Amino acid sequence: WDDSASKIWMDGELVNWEDAKIHSLSHVVHYGTSVFEGIRAYHNDNGTCVFRLEEHVQRLFDSAKMYKIDMPYTQEEISEAILETVRVNELDSCYIRPVVFRGYGELGVSPFGCPVNTVIAAWDWGAYLGEEGMEKGVNVGVSSWRKPAPDTLPTMAKCGANYMNSQLAKMEAIEHGYDEAIMLDYLGYVAEGSGENIFIVEDGVLRTPVLSSSILRGITRDSIITLAKDLGYEVVEESLTRERLYFADEVFFTGTAAEVTPIRSVDGKVIGAGKRGPVAEELQKTFFDIAEARKEDKFNWLTYI
Ligand code: PMP
Repeated sequence: WDDSASKIWMDGELVNWEDAKIHSLSHVVHYGTSVFEGIRAYHNDNGTCVFRLEEHVQRLFDSAKMYKIDMPYTQEEISEAILETVRVNELDSCYIRPVVFRGYGELGVSPFGCPVNTVIAAWDWGAYLGEEGMEKGVNVGVSSWRKPAPDTLPTMAKCGANYMNSQLAKMEAIEHGYDEAIMLDYLGYVAEGSGENIFIVEDGVLRTPVLSSSILRGITRDSIITLAKDLGYEVVEESLTRERLYFADEVFFTGTAAEVTPIRSVDGKVIGAGKRGPVAEELQKTFFDIAEARKEDKFNWLTYI
């Protein structure tokens, strides 16, 4: 990509895109010692706003707590730095990536001797699984790779190393001709996509895996649960077996990058009518109506820059 005109926030300073470098012997390069967030900003008639900023910053701090990373900034300072990064780059709708990592110090497994570095970048990023997928749905496959058991790598912490597991599933999906993978948990229940939570619709009821199925506590998952209940839908969090995906009326992904992406087939089996279903469409519309200020922000999700 060509973002040479952009600035990246690095340990409190805005540096040029090409100067945001780290040492090759940084702890993170060798052991994946990072925690991060993926956040979106939307441009609407009232200006540019960050979606659920406070919740994303809270999750970043929770992830840091898991790995004993002492955050060198307060939540307020990180929130302000995120807004500042969007502002200086004069971005409107964009994707924002704060990442906190263990830098250059010692190279033993113990991270305690390494400094903590904080970086925030932002760039334009369209529909993660394609514009066409947002309307027609994507084709996905259940991966042969599973999510880690809860006593191995904690999936509620959004750390870099977790995404080696996601990459195994995503690479396999691409090689099998799918747009995305669905992973099962260590017991064989449906967990989530490589970078998305998942919902099914059965007879008008929304169902989504429980947090104990080794999933990320998705902020979009929470937004969609909130919106669905507000629209009068019943939402159930439960363990889902694989065949529930095949037999569902609708299946869709949620995530900051993927927003609300309908799924039209799983493992080559057509889901429902093989296109975006009415529930996914209504939730997608409601979600964008709030982000793009066509509807009142009644849950206070938007922070204007
Ligand atoms: N699961 C995984 C593994 C993810 O990487 C993401 C993206 N952050 C999600 C779920 C969705 O989370 P959110 O809605 O907070 O972006």
